[in-house]
Amino acid sequence: MALEMRGACERCESVVAADGVAWICSYECTFCEDCTAALRRVCPNCAGELVRRPTRVAR
Ligand SMILES: [Zn+2]
Ligand SMILES: [Zn+2]
Repeated sequence: MALEMRGACERCESVVAADGVAWICSYECTFCEDCTAALRRVCPNCAGELVRRPTRVAR
């Protein structure tokens, strides 16, 4: 199953591009870099650790 690429931060709703920096937890809650720093890399939805999402590079 392919990783779903959500397009917006769940906290501030700013757009996170597929080729930009985004952070996700194991349930794929998605956050922008600013919110991830503010949240201390802990997902507010599931208390999981947030990790850098791999960058999807357009070909
Ligand atoms: Zn955000
Ligand atoms: Zn989560």
